Amino acid sequence: MKRVFSHNISHWWLLLAGVVVATTLVWQVTRWVYDSALGELIETGGDRLTLYTGTLRGALNQYAYLPYVLSRNADVRILLKSTFNVEMVNHYLESLNTEAGSEALYVMNVVGDTLASSNWRQPLSFVGRNYGFRPYFTDAKSGLKGKLFAIGVTTGRPGYFMSYPVIENERFLGAAVVKVDLTPLQERWREGGETVLVSDVNGVLFLSSRNDWRYRTLSPLSEAQSTLILAGRQYGAQSLDLLPLETVEVLAEGQRIVRSENVLYLMLSRSLADFNWQLHHVVPLAPVRERGQAVAAIGTVLALLLLALGLYVRERRQKQISRRQAREAEAIQTMNLRLQEEVAERSRTEAALREAQAELVQTGKLAALGHMAAGIVHELNQPISAIRTHAASGRLLLERQETGKVQDSFAAVTRMTEHMAAITGQLKTFAHKAPRLNEQEVVLQDCLDAAVAMTAPLLNELEISLDKRIPAEPLVINGELGRVKQVLINLMRNAADAMRGSERREMVVTLTRVNQNVEMSFADSGVGIAEQDIDELFTPFFTTKDVGEGLGLGLSISYRIVTDLGGTIHAQNRPEGGAKFTVKLPLITKMRRKERDT
Ligand code: ADP
Repeated sequence: MKRVFSHNISHWWLLLAGVVVATTLVWQVTRWVYDSALGELIETGGDRLTLYTGTLRGALNQYAYLPYVLSRNADVRILLKSTFNVEMVNHYLESLNTEAGSEALYVMNVVGDTLASSNWRQPLSFVGRNYGFRPYFTDAKSGLKGKLFAIGVTTGRPGYFMSYPVIENERFLGAAVVKVDLTPLQERWREGGETVLVSDVNGVLFLSSRNDWRYRTLSPLSEAQSTLILAGRQYGAQSLDLLPLETVEVLAEGQRIVRSENVLYLMLSRSLADFNWQLHHVVPLAPVRERGQAVAAIGTVLALLLLALGLYVRERRQKQISRRQAREAEAIQTMNLRLQEEVAERSRTEAALREAQAELVQTGKLAALGHMAAGIVHELNQPISAIRTHAASGRLLLERQETGKVQDSFAAVTRMTEHMAAITGQLKTFAHKAPRLNEQEVVLQDCLDAAVAMTAPLLNELEISLDKRIPAEPLVINGELGRVKQVLINLMRNAADAMRGSERREMVVTLTRVNQNVEMSFADSGVGIAEQDIDELFTPFFTTKDVGEGLGLGLSISYRIVTDLGGTIHAQNRPEGGAKFTVKLPLITKMRRKERDT
């Protein structure tokens, strides 16, 4: 459950990360496409701007020399000084104007009255008119070259006016003026389908390829600016309203994005310093934006496709994984079931084994008991029947008054009972743990000599050779001479019994000191011990001998005695045949003996 939950979380995180990366990527690419398209637009726009600047400059400079030429003309000077020559100068101006291709050429006197003009013959002639209010006249009056774009007061036609002062002996005589028509240029721009604008120092767009933007201002006019324009009657009756052109973003000096009537444009501007004007090129931004949008759309579709593909692949993998997990779970379950079955089977087998074992133990115990009973019965039967015989013969002897012989019978009975007491005594030793009352120092060499002496008749009878390997140093243990001796006798008797059927009958008894212990071994060349019996040897009543020959108590009694003394006893078969019994007992050290003596 928890795993599924965390798995889901990571799934959503991955999805989110994918969306974020895809969005960022699409956005970046779109941005890049947009930026490069915009850059291109700026570059070509800049080129166009350079071109327009050139044509504008060319159009104006073409006529710039005319006022100067007029101001140097002798007839013009005479006219200004004497008002003679009017007709001649009019003709001269007319022909020069036609030749130069300007709109008008005229000469003004010291107060600004027009004395002669190229259009003297036309209805809207400048002759006789006063243009002293025009800034280009006041400039000339101040000894400067004047220039101004303005709407004609007389004709109502816009034009560019350039003036040159006529000065003689530092006296201002008047001004020579040329008016240039810029509408053809404007017309050419319009026909080119491009938006080209020229604004003056006040921000008034006096040239515009777009009719609706002409005579609008780029920034609101101040009071002073309005007054000045009115005084110079520069733009006639035009209201000079603010053009609703909102700057959206300034990209660089002379490069900005503007919005007009909800349409975005790139507006490139360049100043014509010598005229105090600014030339503007305005291009719609739509193509650039469209290109960006197209890329964004394609990018989004691609990203969505990729995302969908990713999700599909992931889903498929997830399904595969869960299918595999299901298979694994199934396999594990099957395995568990099999294990459970096996465990059940094993416990059944174990129970059966236990039962069998219990049965075996029971039978084993019963067998041992039977063996023991048979042994005891056999051991006791003999003396009992002997006692019975002696008692019966005693009665007979008493009847016959043969008291001497009766004495013998009683003595025999006493011997028999003593024999029986010995048997039961043995059983008692086994039944109770003997208290270590009569502990004394036992010298093993002496003990061994006594045991050998007691088994000597048996050894002689069976013609057994005895090899004693004994060190000179007396080996002393703490114990009870009688009991220790009984152990040695038991082991020697068993060895002798085992060699009854052997051809070679050799017994080797070894005493060795090993550190603080003594090791006593009894090796024989007998039949040896059956492998399966080795663990049973020291069990009470275990015997391989026939009924009446052994009670199976000798080794178990010996085991009891040795362990009581803090020692060990064990049996093994010799590689060369026969058995070897080894008894290990702790020695009394000299120090301990000394301690005890004091
Ligand atoms: P018993 O001598 O009355 O049988 P023990 O306890 O003394 O009882 O011995 C048990 C059994 O150990 C013997 O019946 C015999 O099978 C085996 N055994 C003891 N000593 C030897 C030996 N030296 N070689 C072979 N078997 C032995």
